[in-house]
Amino acid sequence: MSTSHPPDPVTEVYDLRVVVERIEGRSVCGMQVGDYIELTESSRLSIPEGGHFCLYALAACLPLLPAKQRPLPAGDWLATDSHVACPDPDEWLIMRIERTGRRIVPTEDLT
Ligand SMILES: [Zn+2]
Repeated sequence: MSTSHPPDPVTEVYDLRVVVERIEGRSVCGMQVGDYIELTESSRLSIPEGGHFCLYALAACLPLLPAKQRPLPAGDWLATDSHVACPDPDEWLIMRIERTGRRIVPTEDLT
């Protein structure tokens, strides 16, 4: 008789990139089309060297990111809707959330 241990629990998450897709108003925070941030390994946020990102634009994206990191049922609106606007009314700055890769992370490393 052999005792098989259950596999260690893992969390499946997508790495994300939030890209400025278009700016239809005046870019108050100095961002340009193509500027981006990346969210990897569930919680690591990074900005390309020398770049910056608008705090309020980031705040607008934040509530969606943990959901976007996970596989979603096909009918879920969040599965197809990937655009977020910066709340600054002068900007009309629209960002797109992209999935850049998928990772299997030991759950232990995340909690
Ligand atoms: Zn902004």
